[in-house]
Order: sequence, then C-alpha cells, then structure tokens
Amino acid sequence: MKNTQIVVVGGGAGGLELVTRLGAKYGRSQHDILLVERNLTHIWKPLLHEVAAGSLDANLDEVGYRSHCHRWGYRFFYGAMESIDRAARAIVIAPLIDEDGRELIGRHRTGYDYLVIATGSITNDFGTPGVVQNCLFLDDRTQADRFRNKLLNHCLRASRALSENPQADAFVRIAIVGAGATGVELAAELYNAASALRYYGLEVFDESRLKVTLIEAGPRILPALPERLADAAREELEALGVRILTATRVMSVSPEWIQTQNGESIAADLKVWAAGVRGADYLNSIGDLETTPSCQLVVRPTLQTTRDDRIFALGDCCYCVLPGSDRPVPPRAQAAHQMASTVFHNLGRLMRGKPLRAYTYTDRGSLVSLSRYSTVGSLMGNLVGGRMAIEGRLARFVYMSLYRMHLLAIHGWLRGMALILIGHVARILRPRLKLH
Ligand SMILES: Cc1cc2nc3c(=O)[nH]c(=O)nc-3n(C[C@H](O)[C@H](O)[C@H](O)COP(=O)(O)OP(=O)(O)OC[C@H]3O[C@@H](n4cnc5c(N)ncnc54)[C@H](O)[C@@H]3O)c2cc1C
Repeated sequence: MKNTQIVVVGGGAGGLELVTRLGAKYGRSQHDILLVERNLTHIWKPLLHEVAAGSLDANLDEVGYRSHCHRWGYRFFYGAMESIDRAARAIVIAPLIDEDGRELIGRHRTGYDYLVIATGSITNDFGTPGVVQNCLFLDDRTQADRFRNKLLNHCLRASRALSENPQADAFVRIAIVGAGATGVELAAELYNAASALRYYGLEVFDESRLKVTLIEAGPRILPALPERLADAAREELEALGVRILTATRVMSVSPEWIQTQNGESIAADLKVWAAGVRGADYLNSIGDLETTPSCQLVVRPTLQTTRDDRIFALGDCCYCVLPGSDRPVPPRAQAAHQMASTVFHNLGRLMRGKPLRAYTYTDRGSLVSLSRYSTVGSLMGNLVGGRMAIEGRLARFVYMSLYRMHLLAIHGWLRGMALILIGHVARILRPRLKLH
C-alpha cells in the first residue's frame, strides 16, 4: 500500500517544529513526510536583528536541513513552491538555479495527500514609493547578512575619516521605519555592536558615531506592550542616542532621504523597513484558495484552509480569526509554535477519521530585548493569571526561553539542552562581533 504523503512547505519557526514531530512519529515507516524549503539551513527568524548587527554569528546557530531530516525521519527537498494544482493534489516547485545562473533541477511537481503551508511572511511596504529600491529588510538570513556588510563598510569609512581628521563630521546615519519589536530591537542592537567595534580594529569609532532615527506612524513605539513598558523602552533608546519620531508617516524613500508626511527629509546611509508583514505575492489566490488582500491564506479554527480540507496553513502566512475575536492571531513565533502543535494533532485525527480540534491562541505575552541594555515585556495568560509587566533579568531570561523552547522542539530534550549549554560556552569564548 502507498504511504500517505504529507508535504510541509517552509521549514521556519512553525514548519520545522511540525516536520520534526511528524518525522519522529510517522516518518520512518508509516508515512512519507516531505519538507520543501527554499533555503539549505534554518535560522530562527527572531534572531535576525542580531545577525544584522553582527552580535550573532548565524553560522553557529543555524540548522542544516539535510542532517536534521536524516535524524528525525523526514525527507528534505531544496526548492521553492510556486503554485498548487489542487485537482491533481500536487505542488509545483520552481526551477532550482545555481550561482552561475544554470538550471540545476527543472520545474517539477510533487504529489501530496495532505499539504501544510508554513511559508512565513515578508515585510509590508504598503506600496510606499522607493521602499523596495532603497530600503533593506530583515526577512531572511541573506538580507540580514547584507545589512551587516553594509553597516561594517559605513563604520569603516567613518573610522577612516576620523583617523585622518579627528574633527571630521563622520557619522553612520541609519533610519529604521517601524517601531514594533523588530525596529526597536535592531536600534538597540546597533549601539551594542558599535560599542564593540573599537576592539576589532576600528579604534577611533564608537557608538557616539551612530545616528539612528526610529520612525513610527502610530502614536507610540511598541504598540503590543503596555504604555509604561513602551515608555521605559523609549527612555532607554533615547539615552543611547536614538532619535524617535512617532505619529510620523513615511511618504517616499530615495537613495539619500526618507521623506515624511510632516515635510521632513531624513538623510540616511542605511534605511531599514520593518513596518509590518504580509504574505508573499505568489500566495495570492494560490490553487484558488481564499486569501486576504495582504496575501495571507484564510484558515478555519482547525487551521484547514477554507476551500480545501486537505490543505492546512500555519504561522505568519495564515489569516486566522478565532471565534469570539475580531482580530486575527498575530504573526508571532509563539503563534507559529502553537499552530504547529495543533496541525500535528489534527493531521493525525484527519487520517484516523476523527473530528478535528480548534486551535486556541494562548498569548504568553510580548518581550522586547534592548540588547545588553535592558529587556522589557509583559507576561500573560495562565502562566501568571493575567498580565504582568516584567523588566530586567527576569524579562531577559523569559525572552531567551522562547528560543530555548524552539531548540528543544527541533532537537529533542537531550540534544537541545546540550546545544543550549554549548551556546552559553560559545558566547563566552567567541568574539563579541561577527565582522565578515
Ligand atoms: C527581527 C525579527 C524579530 C522578531 N522577534 C520576535 C519575537 O521576539 N517574538 C515573536 O514571537 N516573534 C518575533 N518575530 C516574528 C517571528 O519571527 C515570526 O512570527 C515567525 O518566524 C513566523 O514563523 P513561520 O513558521 O510562520 O515563518 P518563518 O519562521 O518565517 O519560516 C518560513 C519559512 O518558509 C520558507 N519559505 C518561504 N517561502 C517559501 C517557498 N515558496 N517555498 C519553500 N519555502 C519557503 C522560508 O525560507 C522560511 O524558512 C520576529 C521577526 C523578526 C524579523
């Protein structure tokens, strides 16, 4: 008898946890579990601002899919899904092109009995002119590496100018659009990285040479956090030197400037856009599934797509409004983690002909790391019986726990704990910055 084929597209925060569990339970004998992923390695997305600033070496934290699948009993296919043929129950994978532009593997199809789409999100530029051409994004490792290389080049240029003339007007000007967690965390991390550069050959450069402007259209930074904590984060950032503009909408971006609605032109060497997320364009009506105007797949509480019981979607790429709520589940790593668990159980129930369970979102709270300077956040739900504001060491510990939980989910307890331990040791032994 043919094995049931379960295809998961996207091996990120949610997808990789799901294939790990499916592989461990069904993979080696009962069913064929296939992960289709457009990258060869996984890095947990909430770490990308640290990769961008250089304070985290992604090579040490990334997970290679090929070795991971061997250990956990699923198959890995390197490629990007571009469409779905629902009638034939197959996905179409785009041609794989090598570095020289030659086709390695042509466009082809892979059949499925059950399909899970976990392809994440991309940054939403809201159609603002000039953003795509002139801004950097933090959607994946390549973009984070690109930002770091550009940042280092600008720091080097400023450092050179200062060593020739200590009075030189040499600054690295960075504008970050969007003061949610990503923008705020990146701003703080940049100061942490800049303060370490003097130990690595840029003797005359320090954090006073950074000019970071954080631009937010809403009335305050960190809208997901209680006002008191957002104010604490604002004070911390301003003490570092960040200029914060709230209620400031960006109208356009040029190679040199960011133009705001208030008529100000903000000069910036590096411009980062971190102002919200949406699904990738190819998801728009993919396989004639229901999608939102921002290209997210609409799902029912069981996380099945509205037009096909065999197709699930989870994480940032899905649009899930739960009964009793008028807002969709937010695009967060904790939601992707919880959804992966629901889809795992529901696939089992679907295959056994049992009724599926509804997903419930448990908001564990929001935490924002201001690098080594501070961590602020609020814990929610059953854990503390309501909402509790936390700061400092406790907040840092809980913030780090999110990543530790992901490591345990994708490596198992024994390996996961060993890797957490190795991570601690490496943090002590390795250089504070990745400079290449
Ligand atoms: C800088 C930053 C900081 C963040 N901090 C936090 C935080 O502190 N807490 C929190 O809860 N959330 C945070 N988030 C949000 C969090 O990272 C996302 O909500 C989470 O990663 C979503 O998980 P996912 O599985 O849906 O998608 P992802 O983790 O983005 O994974 C999607 C995967 O799909 C792959 N893929 C995409 N398209 C295709 C295709 N066509 N074919 C094959 N593969 C494809 C991608 O390569 C990727 O591996 C942060 C995000 C960023 C950028």
